[in-house]
Amino acid sequence: MKVSDKTCCKCKTEAATVLIRQAYYCQSCFNFTFVGKYRSILLRLRNGNRQNGKVLLACSGGPSSIAMVNLTKNFMRVVPTEKKKVQLIPEAIVCHIDESTLFENNKGYSEKLTENMKKDFADFEYFSHRLEEVFGPEFTSSGEFNKILKSTSGGVENGEYEHFVQCVQSNSNRPLAEQLQALFNSIKRTAAKEDLIWNLKMKMLVTIARREGCSFIFMGDSATRQAIKMIAMTSKGRGYTLPLDIGVDNELSFKDVCIMRPMKDMLSKEIGFYNYFNKIDRYIMPAYNFSTMMPAKSSIERLTEDFIVSIEREFSSTVSTICRTITKLQPSATMDLTKTCAMCLMPLEAGIAEWRRHITVTDVEGSELPSEKNGCGDCSTAGGCCSTTDKKEDKAVVDMNKFMCYNCQVNLKDYNSTTIENLPPYMAESIVDQSRDSRLLDQIKDFLINDDDDEE
Ligand SMILES: [Zn+2]
Ligand SMILES: [Zn+2]
Repeated sequence: MKVSDKTCCKCKTEAATVLIRQAYYCQSCFNFTFVGKYRSILLRLRNGNRQNGKVLLACSGGPSSIAMVNLTKNFMRVVPTEKKKVQLIPEAIVCHIDESTLFENNKGYSEKLTENMKKDFADFEYFSHRLEEVFGPEFTSSGEFNKILKSTSGGVENGEYEHFVQCVQSNSNRPLAEQLQALFNSIKRTAAKEDLIWNLKMKMLVTIARREGCSFIFMGDSATRQAIKMIAMTSKGRGYTLPLDIGVDNELSFKDVCIMRPMKDMLSKEIGFYNYFNKIDRYIMPAYNFSTMMPAKSSIERLTEDFIVSIEREFSSTVSTICRTITKLQPSATMDLTKTCAMCLMPLEAGIAEWRRHITVTDVEGSELPSEKNGCGDCSTAGGCCSTTDKKEDKAVVDMNKFMCYNCQVNLKDYNSTTIENLPPYMAESIVDQSRDSRLLDQIKDFLINDDDDEE
């Protein structure tokens, strides 16, 4: 039976034009329901003592983020004729990250998007940053850090568990775009590339949000994308941070910025209809990424996408069932938010290296820490830390794995020494800062009063 032979399930008068999860809607009822879903998520902004702050809309130019920008526009002003006179978002900016340095096919997209935004979405201030800018000092915490990491052991390449690095002054004058290309060219596995590019973009969005005084970042992940991420991230070993990685609102990862996913209830099919009905599909740009035109088995994420999309075609409640599970996810009560992964910025579970040794069948003999073999007694780090005139902490050799979550440790196996050297300075900075803190803590631990002692 054709869709147009049915009447709308909501108004019961108009002829239906769309079929969503076995329900028929006319165009205006579909729009009303779609906008209503967005509104109900925005109402979460008013939950608790949350301030109604400025919002950064992350916009890739894909269907979901374009829909999100258009939806947000309507919640920024009060329409006197409308019944519900609430302005849910006081101020918002649109931020696009231009990836054309890595993907030739995306050239010119950013310029086109800039033009469209300035012309048709003038309510928003618009920012476009090139991905390679992440190598600049602007994206470090101190705003001036320009050192890089250098592999000293190559442990990962030898199939061992540690990867020792030293932090050295960067004396590269190479253009940032070349550094970005060198970084990604040195990684072979698509999954490792996909995760890395995602981490770089996240770092940029959080930094830009802080710079512009935004207290929220809106990500345009659709229900379909959320379902794919949930399965893919679980298989990649991100179970610990999953509630933060994909939850509707993550207030825990960053003290000053809350990450929200207001499109999480919309199927990509619904987003397609909304964009079409509202004539905003002309702004969409078919972005290329590492798995475009690649076979399904090129990465976990790509494989999961194929899997979910094909089941959804037969069983239209697949995505919504997975998404309902996401709303039930809670971060562990014992999660330590002070230690974060230098790569993905998410909280770090303690003792991963030990755990990995337990579950992996490998001969780990001889992989003891160099500090145990030839470590310096003074600062308890390995290899010539005190023999140079440099500040000790800069020459200290640290195991990179200690500052990375499980998923990022797995990806580290695909990094060679060129990759490590080409990682952006903000990662080196995070490792240096956190290792200094932990060494300091180590030195004074005997003088600290442990909270647990009181209870015994
Ligand atoms: Zn209707
Ligand atoms: Zn990580």
